[in-house]
Order: sequence, then C-alpha cells, then structure tokens
Amino acid sequence: MAIASNLGFPRIGDRRALKTALEAFWSGRAGEGELIAAAARLRAEHWNRQRRLGISHIPSGDFALYDHVLETACMLGAIPPGYGWTGGPVPLATLFALARGARGTEAGIAPTLPALEMTKWFDTNYHYLVPMLAPDQRFVLTENRPRAAFEEALAHGVRTRPVLLGPVTFLKLAKREDGGDTLALLDALLPVYAEILTGLAEAGAHWVQIDEPCFALDLTEAERSALSRAHAALAAAAPRLSILLASYFGPLADNLPTALALPVAGLHLDLARGAADLDAVLEGARADLWLSLGVVDGRNVWRTDLRAALATLRRVADRRGTRRLMVAPSCSLLHVPMDLEAEDALDPEVKSWLAFAVQKLAEVATLARALDEGEGAVASALKASDAAVAGRRGSARVHDPAVAARAAAADPPGRSAPYRDRRIVQRRTLALPPFPTTTIGSFPQTEAVRRLRADREAGRIDDDAYTEAMKRLIAEAIAWQEEIGLDVLVHGEFERNDMVKYFGERLSGFAFTKHGWVQSYGSRCVAPPIIWGDVARPAPITVAWTAYAQSLTTKPVKGMLTGPVTMLQWSFVRDDLPRETVCRQIALAIRDEVDDLQRAGIRMVQIDEPAFREGLPLRRADRRRYLDWAVACFRLAAGAARDETQIHTHMCYSEFNDIIAEIAALDADVISIETARSRMELLDAFASFAYPNEIGPGVYDIHSPRVPAAEEMVRLLRIARRRIPADRLWVNPDCGLKTRRWEEVRPALANMVTAARTLRAELATE
Ligand code: GLN
Ligand code: ZN
Repeated sequence: MAIASNLGFPRIGDRRALKTALEAFWSGRAGEGELIAAAARLRAEHWNRQRRLGISHIPSGDFALYDHVLETACMLGAIPPGYGWTGGPVPLATLFALARGARGTEAGIAPTLPALEMTKWFDTNYHYLVPMLAPDQRFVLTENRPRAAFEEALAHGVRTRPVLLGPVTFLKLAKREDGGDTLALLDALLPVYAEILTGLAEAGAHWVQIDEPCFALDLTEAERSALSRAHAALAAAAPRLSILLASYFGPLADNLPTALALPVAGLHLDLARGAADLDAVLEGARADLWLSLGVVDGRNVWRTDLRAALATLRRVADRRGTRRLMVAPSCSLLHVPMDLEAEDALDPEVKSWLAFAVQKLAEVATLARALDEGEGAVASALKASDAAVAGRRGSARVHDPAVAARAAAADPPGRSAPYRDRRIVQRRTLALPPFPTTTIGSFPQTEAVRRLRADREAGRIDDDAYTEAMKRLIAEAIAWQEEIGLDVLVHGEFERNDMVKYFGERLSGFAFTKHGWVQSYGSRCVAPPIIWGDVARPAPITVAWTAYAQSLTTKPVKGMLTGPVTMLQWSFVRDDLPRETVCRQIALAIRDEVDDLQRAGIRMVQIDEPAFREGLPLRRADRRRYLDWAVACFRLAAGAARDETQIHTHMCYSEFNDIIAEIAALDADVISIETARSRMELLDAFASFAYPNEIGPGVYDIHSPRVPAAEEMVRLLRIARRRIPADRLWVNPDCGLKTRRWEEVRPALANMVTAARTLRAELATE
C-alpha cells in the first residue's frame, strides 16, 4: 500500500488564527492559557483536516508558536543566559524574548534583551531565528516536545508521524558566540536527540520524520560525515522506530551517496526541485528502503498535473513495487496558503489552475489511491486534472503574443554611455552639492494614509476625492522636504500598500488573493501575488503622482519603482515558463515606466531591488546563471534611461561581499544600501573592490524608533569616506520610512541634513 503522507502543515490556520492569538497575548488582551488553548485548537483542527483529506502519515511537531528552529533550540536547552530560563520547560516569556527581544518587564528577564538574529530559511521567504550557541554549549532536553505533540494527537485519535529538525541541519543553521564551528558540538547534541527518540518510541510512535534539508546544500566532507555519524547514532538509539530522513528544496546530487548509505528506514525526495536525483536513487537505493516521493510541489500554488505525477510514481513502482512507497508534497506545506476554497473573488479561470495546502493534500491522497487501486479508482480526479492542465496550457489569456514576441526579441538598447560619461552630463543638469541628501522613497504610512486607501477601496470616497487627498499629502511632503533642506526629494509612496502589490495590481498577468497568507516569521504573514500569465503594462503606473510632485519643486524628485527581480522573488511564479523569462517580461514593463517617467520630466528614477540577493540559488554551481539573468533583467529595466536620467537602485541587507561584482554590473548610477545597523561594516566589501559608481550607505537605522543625532551620522559618514571617494558619496537612511512615525522621521532627517552639511564644511577646508 502506498502511503499518503504529509511533511508539514501551515501553522497559521484559516484567517490567520495564530496571528490573532499571538497578538492578543502580546498586547495583554489574552492570557497565556488562552494562547496555549488557541494553539491546541489549531493543531487539533489541522490533524483532523488532514485525516479527512485521506492522509495517513500526518505530521506532528510541525507546529510552532513562533518558529520551529527557535522551538528546537529551546527544547535542546540552547538558550543564551539572561532570558529567564533556569531549567525545565522553557517559559513563554523566554521563548518570546528570544524571538522578539524584551523590555525586561517580565520577572527574571534582564533589562533589555535583543532578539536572536533572524534569517531566511534556505531559499524560502520564511524566516527563522538563528540559535546562538556557546563554544562549550551543553544540551539538555528541557521538555520532550515531539512526544507531547504526539500524545496530544493520539488523544484526538490520530497516530502522527512526529517531525524533528535534524541535528546536523540544526547545528548548521546555528551560530557560535565565538564564531567557531557549530558541528564540533554534534557529540554533545546527539544524546539529547537519542533521548527524544526513545521517548517517542515509548509513547508508541512508529515513524519519525527527521528533516535534514542541509542535504540540498553544498556540503564539505566533514559535514557529510557528520550526517553519517549522526544518523547512525540515532538509528542505533531507537531501533524500534522507523526513521524517514527528509531533504527538500533541491536535489541531493553529490550528497546522494551519503544519504543512501544512512541506516534509515526511509528517504524523502523533493521531486519538484530534485527530480534529477531519481535515476540515481532507483539505481542505488537499498531494496528495503522506503521512498517518500515528493511529487506535489510544496513551494508553489499550481495544481499538480496528476497524470504526469502518476507516471513518475509508476516508474518507481515498476522498479520497486508499491510496498515501500509514500506519496508526499515536495516539502512542508508551510510555504503555501491554506485553502483555495476561501478565495471567493479570484478569477474563476485562474482559480481552476491553483491548489493550496488543502488541495495539495487531496492530490497526494488521490495519487496514493491511484497507485494502489489503479487509475479507474480516481478517474474523475484525473479527468479534472487533465482539464485544468489543458485549460491552462491553451488559455488565450495566459499567452499574450505581443509580450512573448517582445521578450523573445533581442534586448533593446541599454544605456548608451558608460557611467563616467553619464556622470558628466548628470552633474551638469542636476547640480547637486557634494554629499547629496535623499531618502529611500516611502514616508510614514499613518493611520490617515491607510484609511484613505481603505475608504477608496470600499467606495466610501470617489476617485476625485482620493486623488485630491493624495495630492495634499504629496504637497505637504514636498514642502517639508524643501524646508529641511533635502537635495533629492520623493513623493512619499502614500498610494502604495506594498511595493510589489502596488505594481502587480497594475500589470497584467498578476492575481491577488484575499486570504492567501503564508507565514513570513512569527505572526508576520504575506500574501504573495500569483503571476499566472504574460506580464504587460497596460498604462503608466506612477507617472501622474511623481510628475505632480515634481511640478511643486525645482529640486529633482526621484521616481520610485520596484525592480523586476524583486517582483519575481516575492511572488508565486508560473511554472510553465523559466523564471528568467517571466523576469524579462516584468523588466520590459518597468522599462516602459522608466521611459514614461523621464518623458514626463523626471530626472531620477530609483529601481528598488531589495530581493536581488535572495534569489541566489542554494548551490554555488547554479549561482552564475542566476546572477547573469538577474543582472540582465535589471539592466533591461533601467536601459531606457537617457544619459542624463540618473538611475538609482536600493538594496536593504548587509551581505554584499560575494556579489559585489554583480552589484557593480547593474551599473546603476547610484546605489543605496543598509549600513547604519552594522556601523558601516558592510563597506568592507568596498575595500577590496573599487565600486565604480555612486553609493549611499545608510546612516539612519530605520528599524528602530530612535532618532540618531547629527554627530552620530557624521561619524558614520567619516568612516564611509575612507572607503568611498567624496564625490561619489550620498547621504540617506537605510531603507524606506513607511513603518516609522513622523515624530521620529522629522528630527532624524533634519539631523541627517545637518550631518551632510558638516561633511561639506569639512570637505571645503581640506
Ligand atoms: N522604496 C521603498 C520604500 O521606501 C523601498 C522598500 C524596501 O527597500 N524594502 O519603502
Ligand atoms: Zn530597503
């Protein structure tokens, strides 16, 4: 019997129930008991739901109140001192202090505590908290949480398959205070894992899923042997348990021999991203190894082509029989929205091509049944799948011949002159002072601003009233920027809800959901757009607002666009075209917007690419290709700019060293980056690489309500001057200001202008 199985279920629940419960607790509106009860309700609901969908290996322990890596660290006693943990089960106050920082009002917690560092979970948009380990870290089992979850499910009549984050991946994702090798702590860690497994066996678990997604990364020999050693030890510790080793997010490739040699009962394969492994697995897998075949894409929202998936499953079954097969999503369903049925406003045709978590599990169950009972048993599901596949493939709406032709054609010309020539023209026409001051685009999204947009959406005000109110906001912002003496102004982005959504809603080929929430971190969720068809720009998007702002001032107003790579990266992307082709289509749309802006008299255009680095593939060997097309798409978008139109770009993160050459290859005239938080450490990248164009290293950390003093920004700028020639240095905050309040922004930007003036005075005396 093929087993229908799941690797992980979305935690947030329908209508983001977990977010509601967390926020009620954090704000003091609900007590700890209520939060715990809400979480237990969600788990029970999810177990039952999966059972009703026909899943037999239902995961437990995949739930987390905030983040599964953090909760694993807490379970293992990897808790830095000062967070209020004194042994035994970890208090909620400690968990949330590690997750979000703390002011120290809770008993036992030091005055102010920073949150753990947060970073992206592999190449997804989920973020985990980075466990911080001591060089001599001791691990203890604070509480056998997987066992507790297993028993909780059992009480609901569901014998689950507990999920654990594997010891090697855990250590690889963690950091050591002294920067040392975390894998050196493996021997200290394994006994705790053994204890967890023993407890699970005692409680009656049959299968346990151990996730080691680090198998999808480039591994050193030492890391591979750590995996071998760890899993040999765990298998020996729990001989009665069947361990399913799960890797996902990419092929195992050169790590496959290591995985196949592990003494585990089963191996899960991500066949959405790692189909290339399958032949080698069929060649090399032990006859008694269970295979979990992840044929349903857990990272995207498209319906599975059931017939194609079944063909893959058959291929395996023909070789190995169906006795030791599991059918599964490619990875945890954490990365897709919950239930498509909740979408009552989606275009029905587009909707017919989609599957969210609930629908994907139904597909898994159907495929398992087809394997066992033959296609006849699932004839109607196969027919529906065929119809969806054919409908999508043949839809006249998906394919816009004009877009396809344009994207397939040779690149239109890029910028005609090199930076050093453009610079001469731009200097003359823009006439900026040394160390020009500017901002990254958005100003505070006050309650009034958001209400205005909501009122328009709900039809409470008409378009004219909305436009008038927006214009007033823009006029105030321009007047205020002139007053404090900024050199390059922005209109403030008041009309935008979200930098991707705003553009996506105005491009063809994009769809938006009402409830398509995916957890980003903790209670933070995003509803990524769905790119389902060819992308074109029916009409100018930002020109009217920007031109209006420019009409109010003689200073240059910078137009604000979201770049093609970021649009792609923060969306669910169609899977019937290569990503780079979709990216090119978006780039061409943005290119037209750049051209329309300059035709409307705008002299500077910023193309934001905060997600440029995020797109980097997990494997080094794949990075060159990505970087080549990502750079080409940005240049395509910027390429319509005349010499005198100054192109800016913005990236808000702090890991540049490995891609600095590609950042330079974007050939933006000016780049602004985040540096204030790391006190200009980031500029180290610029020490060994002479960045050829202009740079604005952020001098104002916008993530904090704190107002930096002018002297503080002067100090940062002096550090920056050691790395960047004075005539190429800009002065700006780290990022947009939409999350801040005007009471903070006003004095902070005034101080920033003062800091720039101080530097100008220093320059004059040199
Ligand atoms: N222009 C955008 C803003 O200021 C940039 C946002 C971002 O970098 N994430 O809000
Ligand atoms: Zn930013």
